[in-house]
Amino acid sequence: RKYLRHALIIGVTGIVGNSLAEILPLDDTPGGPWKVYGVARRPRPPWNADYPMEYIQCDITNAEETQSKLSTLTDLTNIFYVTWANCSTEEENCEINGQMLRNVLNVVIPNAPNLQHICLQTGLGDTNNVSHDPPFYEDLPRLENHNFYYTLEDIIFNEVVKREGLTWSVHRPGLIFGFSPYSMMNILSSLCVYAAICKYEGEPLRFPGTKEVWNSYNDASDADLIAEHQIWAAVDEYAKNEAFNISNGDVFKWKHLWKVLAEQFGVENGGFQEGENSISMLEMMKDKGPVWDEIVMKNELLATKLDQVGGWWFVDVVVNNDTRLDIMNKSKEHGFLGFRNSKSSLVSWIDKIKSCKLVP
Ligand code: NAD
Repeated sequence: RKYLRHALIIGVTGIVGNSLAEILPLDDTPGGPWKVYGVARRPRPPWNADYPMEYIQCDITNAEETQSKLSTLTDLTNIFYVTWANCSTEEENCEINGQMLRNVLNVVIPNAPNLQHICLQTGLGDTNNVSHDPPFYEDLPRLENHNFYYTLEDIIFNEVVKREGLTWSVHRPGLIFGFSPYSMMNILSSLCVYAAICKYEGEPLRFPGTKEVWNSYNDASDADLIAEHQIWAAVDEYAKNEAFNISNGDVFKWKHLWKVLAEQFGVENGGFQEGENSISMLEMMKDKGPVWDEIVMKNELLATKLDQVGGWWFVDVVVNNDTRLDIMNKSKEHGFLGFRNSKSSLVSWIDKIKSCKLVP
């Protein structure tokens, strides 16, 4: 088959990497036909084994390994960078994440003469809890504190000027709804596991966070929508060399989505308990490993351990911190009109998580 574009997805087993790997090879994907190479650190998992792509197991923190595994990809036209490392301090985040991106660019840029565009996924938040006044728009000035998103952007800016015609786009999602058992921050699969445990133990599904978060407006970013946004930027002239927010375009409240979550698992909706403190999910789940093993065995699920499928620290962050809404005006003004209904997005990802036998 003759391809028009050749994509390298760095982080192909992640929450957005998975969506890119599903969407890029489709016949009607803009800019196609696309040939897809997908990089991730671990061996190829069973849940993406039938995707039409070349899977490359490579640890991009290792410069020599990256050189040996990626230097042969001379046909690349596009990079989709959807990965990160979670370090203990933001200084370390800047250093390690910066090194990972440099390792990839140091190999691909000299070896792929047709490289045209790099999509970099970052986000809205920062780890220091310092923030502008929401809603966020793209052209707000940088904050004073360290943030590895700035490091990554600066590396891209410095690298693309070295090659004439090479362009970039930065994509900033909020809370992502999507599929991937290998993601470091997958709110939905963690909540699905929590709901499955509540159901199994005959307990109501209680909201573990604060009253403010339960009642406030939130927005989410559907992983397929983020992939569509990146593909749009990779192909459309008006999206070049710009940073864009990417969220569903609607708002939701946890108190409404919680009911939907409970219905999907046939568990009693315990909601937010007035007068009680928020519950730490990390604490609540610390002894539930054997319970999860039983659930997996009795339902013949894909073999997983609780600490693999439940990102409890991340749930604690999401349900205890103020929401930061963003706006989608800039994408719309540049021609991207995609959107998702967040409630339908939640239900469809739960269906996918169930159909891949990760939860009952
Ligand atoms: P993820 O955790 O879902 O996936 C990461 C992918 O990268 C996986 O495929 C993993 O195997 C791979 N990977 C990790 N280390 C690697 C290494 N050393 N070598 C090769 N592959 C490696 O990623 P994500 O959540 O899509 O995160 C990408 C960016 O999006 C990050 O900057 C993150 O902060 C941002 N973001 C994520 C969310 C969210 O809800 N998940 C929300 C907003 C912003």
